[in-house]
Order: sequence, then structure tokens, then C-alpha cells
Amino acid sequence: MGIVVMRMLEGRKLVVASHNKGKLAEIADLIGPFGFEARSAAEYGLPEPAETGTTFEENAYIKAFAAASATGLPALSDDSGLAVDALDGAPGVYTADWAETGNGRDFGRAMALTEAKLAEKGAVAPGDRTGRFVSVLCLAWPDGHAEYFRGEVEGTLVWPPRGEKGFGYDPMFLPDGHDRTFGEMSAQEKHGTAAPLSHRARAFDRFRRAMLEHA
Ligand code: IMP
Repeated sequence: MGIVVMRMLEGRKLVVASHNKGKLAEIADLIGPFGFEARSAAEYGLPEPAETGTTFEENAYIKAFAAASATGLPALSDDSGLAVDALDGAPGVYTADWAETGNGRDFGRAMALTEAKLAEKGAVAPGDRTGRFVSVLCLAWPDGHAEYFRGEVEGTLVWPPRGEKGFGYDPMFLPDGHDRTFGEMSAQEKHGTAAPLSHRARAFDRFRRAMLEHA
């Protein structure tokens, strides 16, 4: 067995600890071929817990364990964000918060805030504008046991933002080895064609491989 020690998922049922329909569909597609069934937290009427952790792992665990303990089933969550080196890893776990307007989320504003902070640091040259997207999947069981699958993609932050595709900070993120931002890539390109590219695709790939070992 590899470095991942994954417990058997008895009953072949998983709760996806997310109220995001996109994430649920992505996860259902991923685990379906292994004979697993994904149920959403919404189907169980579960509330969304406050993400009070200071790391992606902590927040992913908070979400997965809340769903696992409420349903008695293993639960899968993901937590993600952008970590900028010149900003000491910010916005990090506060990536979504930087978009908060008090009246919904505005990622144009979140990107402008990121750029303003980079300008304050004098981070103009591409080499001073490095960072990464991080995605952490957490699979938690009702007894508190948890396993993590982390994916990262390194890149450079560009200004002005480029592209209308994707979501969140995609138009500002130029992945290493590419000349187009995530905002300029199709979903297929962003997730990777020959090999997984995006942080989420990389985390899912690790999860999928762990499942394969136990399928
Ligand atoms: P959470 O995982 O729901 O806490 O939110 C993570 C935040 O990070 C989201 O609000 C997104 O804006 C941002 N983010 C995560 N993944 C991506 C991505 O693939 N592209 C752009 N932004 C992302």
C-alpha cells in the first residue's frame, strides 16, 4: 500500500460536506466509477459550520467531521484558496473572505485588493509575485479519524486580470509553464489534459488513487 492509509468505506456511501452543487457533481462523477454513492449535506439538512480554522486542513476537517458526526457516514469536504508568497501566504484560508462585500461576493474586488497589497510591497517583477492555489480534501469518519489529500499549483499573479472563464481569482493566476491564466483556459485545460493541472484536480487525483487501491 502507498503512503495513504485509507480505511475501507463500508456501505459505499459518502456524504459530500458541501452545499455547492458544482463540487457535489464533480465529486459524484469522481467516485461513481468506484461504486460509491455521493449524498450531499443538503440532502441531510446539515447546516454549514463556521470555518474557524487557521489552515486549509483544519477548515476541511471542521466541515467533513461535522457532516460525518451528524450522519454516521464518512464525509468528504474540500477547502481551498490562494497563498501569495509576498503576502506571507495571504489571503490563504481567508481567500473567499477577501471577496465579501457585506452584500455578496465580488472577486473583481478581491483581486484588486490582492493587487493593492502586492503594490504596497513593491512586488512588480513576476519573480516577486509568486504564489499557489491550494486544495485540501478531507475524508472524515464519525469517530473522528480523518485522511487528507492536498493538491497545489504554482504560478504568478498578473495584473490586469485576463480572461472571463473560471471563477474566483482565476483571471489573475498564471500557472507555471503556461502563457494563459486560468481565466483564459477552458475547464478541461484548467483541470489538466495529459496530467492534472489545477490544485483541485491534483487533490482529486490523489484521492482517486487512494480509492483505487481500495476499490
Ligand atoms: P472555500 O474553499 O469555499 O473556503 O473558498 C475558497 C476560495 O478560494 C473561493 O472563494 C475561490 O474564490 C478561491 N478559489 C479556490 N479555488 C479556486 C480556483 O480554482 N480558481 C479561482 N479561485 C479559487
